[in-house]
Amino acid sequence: MSEAKLREEVCVIGASIFGRGLTAGSSGNISVKTEDGWLMTPTGSSLGRLDPARLSKLGADGRLVSGDAPTKESFLHRVMYEERPETGAVVHLHSTHSVAVSCLAEIDPMDVLPPITAYYVMRVGRLPLVPYFRPGDLALAEAVRGFASKHHAVLLANHGPVVAGTDLDAAVNAIEELEETAKLHLLLRGAKIRYLSPAQVEELRA
Ligand SMILES: [Zn+2]
Repeated sequence: MSEAKLREEVCVIGASIFGRGLTAGSSGNISVKTEDGWLMTPTGSSLGRLDPARLSKLGADGRLVSGDAPTKESFLHRVMYEERPETGAVVHLHSTHSVAVSCLAEIDPMDVLPPITAYYVMRVGRLPLVPYFRPGDLALAEAVRGFASKHHAVLLANHGPVVAGTDLDAAVNAIEELEETAKLHLLLRGAKIRYLSPAQVEELRA
């Protein structure tokens, strides 16, 4: 896909994410791999009002080539690309239900959400919880790195999800599935639930 088309796609998907309330204010960021580096959403920008011409263009060395300065959370994206060479896009959101789940005291840090639906198991799989770090702390990048080779989706504690995909559609579909599953999980809290059985989960993973 041409760089112009990728720029357009990032802005269209950003507006769609913002319009549906999946991230608010200037939170959330998107990156896509290009032939010679990456495109990334700029720091302080709202996903609802992105300008294709002002997206941050980073070279293969990670330095800004053109456009506005990249998101301050760019290190979350870099780690995913470094640890998962097949990655074509990364999306990070402060999506309400996922953030809510990331604040629950009693969750399994190795696999935060239960197997509620088949699509969650197929698109997200096991979701580890990355411990909390203050905004901008680069130790967060190293903590994410520890999971990234085995997981394309991670949940940052008291913060939100980061999801990598082979392309932008795959990353967005997976992070939306994660958010919907977090919503279902909260809706079902306190109810007697019939989760997918271990055998059903294994069948999907195979
Ligand atoms: Zn964030």
